[in-house]
Amino acid sequence: MQLLSIKDCDIKNKKVFIRCDFNVPIDDYGNINDDRRIRSAIATIQFCLDQGCAIILASHFGRPKGEVDPKYSLAPIARRLNQLLRVDVKMAEDVVGTSAMSLAKALKSGEILLLENLRFEKGETKNDPALSASLASMAEVYINDAFGVSHRAHSSVEGITAHFDDAHKAAGFLLQKEIQFFSTLLERPVRPFAAIVGGSKVSGKLEALINLLPRVDKVLIGGGMAFTFLKALGYNVGNSLVEDDLLEEALNIMAEAKRLGVKFYLPVDVVAAEKFAPDAASRLCTVQEIPSGWMGLDIGPATVRLYRQVLNDVQTILWNGPMGVYEMDRFARGSNKIAHFVADSYATTVVGGGDTADLVQRIGLDEEISFISTGGGASLELLEGKILPGVKPLLKKG
Ligand code: AMP
Repeated sequence: MQLLSIKDCDIKNKKVFIRCDFNVPIDDYGNINDDRRIRSAIATIQFCLDQGCAIILASHFGRPKGEVDPKYSLAPIARRLNQLLRVDVKMAEDVVGTSAMSLAKALKSGEILLLENLRFEKGETKNDPALSASLASMAEVYINDAFGVSHRAHSSVEGITAHFDDAHKAAGFLLQKEIQFFSTLLERPVRPFAAIVGGSKVSGKLEALINLLPRVDKVLIGGGMAFTFLKALGYNVGNSLVEDDLLEEALNIMAEAKRLGVKFYLPVDVVAAEKFAPDAASRLCTVQEIPSGWMGLDIGPATVRLYRQVLNDVQTILWNGPMGVYEMDRFARGSNKIAHFVADSYATTVVGGGDTADLVQRIGLDEEISFISTGGGASLELLEGKILPGVKPLLKKG
C-alpha cells in the first residue's frame, strides 16, 4: 500500500492544512496526562516549518457533540505545542468562523495556527460537504497525519480530500509510519508470527481474528473474550463475561485455526473474583475450577508461563487487548507480566493502540516496544483488513 507522501508534495512556502490527532487524555485540572499523540505529530509540523509553510493545524478533542464547550477547547494543546515546537502557536476562537478564517488568511510563512476543536462543528462527524469545503478553502495543500481518526469518514478526514488533487494532498509522517508498519505486519511478517488478542469481547475482535488467522503462526487469547471460547469448549466459566450468541463462531474460529495449522492458545488458569470490583474476594484457579457464580478477571500465573513459552521462539509479536481488567490493580498482573515479556523480547513487537498502549505506558515499557500505534480503533480496522476512509483518497494510483 503506497501513500501519497508529504515528501513528494510541492509544499515549499505554501499554506498547508494538517489534520492531526491531538485527542489526548486530560485530567480534571486540564493537565495533559500523556502527550504522545502531540509529540507524534511534531515531525510533520517541523518538516512543513522547514519548507517555509504557513501551517494550519486542526484536530478533534473529546466528544463535545457539535456544540461549543470550553471543557473541550484545544487551548491546552496549543500551549503544549508552543513548548514542544518553540514557536508561537496562534489559536483561533472557532473552526471555520470569522476568527479562524481571518487568522488563516493572514497566516505567513513560518507561522502556525491551531483551529478550535473540529467537533464544535456539527458537520464534522457527518462528513458535511459544506464544512469540508470551508476547511479546504483555508489552504493550498492538505496533509493527513491523524492516524487515530483515519477510520472515520469525517469532514476534515475524508470529505476535505476531494478539494485537493494528488499533487496537493498527502499523508504525514505519522500516518505513513502507521500504515507501513501494519501493512508489513499483515503482508510480509517475519515468522514465526504470534498475535496476542485480548480485551473484553469476542465481538469487538471477531473480524480481526478472522483476518489474522491465515497470516499468523500462533494466536494467544486473553481477557474477557477467552471465556466465550472456553464456554464453547464446554468449560463452566461461572459468571465470566461470555457472549452466548458467539459460541458457535468461537468453535468455527478454533476449527479454522486447526485447519490452517495455526496454534491456538487459551488461558489454562485465571484470577477469579466474586464480583466485578477492585476489592472483590479473589482466588487463583484453573479454568476447570472457576467457582460457580465467580468470574475470571485476569489470566493466572500458569497461563503467563505457558504464554512466555509460546512466545519464546517467535520473531514478530502483535498485541491487541489486555489480558485482564488491568484498570484494577488486583487484575492487572497478567497484563503486566505479558507486557514485560513482550518488552524484553528480541522479536519485532507491535502494540495496537487504545487500552494495550495505555497499559504498556502505565508501566513505563513504551520505549521497549518496536512500535506502539496511536490509534486503537484505526489499527483494529487495519487488522480487520479494511482500507480506512481517510487513507483511501491518499493512496498512490497505479
Ligand atoms: P477492548 O476495548 O475490547 O480491547 O477491551 C478492553 C477492556 O477489556 C478493558 O477495559 C478491560 O478491563 C476489559 N477486560 C479485560 N479482561 C476482562 C475480563 N476477564 N472480564 C471483563 N472485562 C475484561
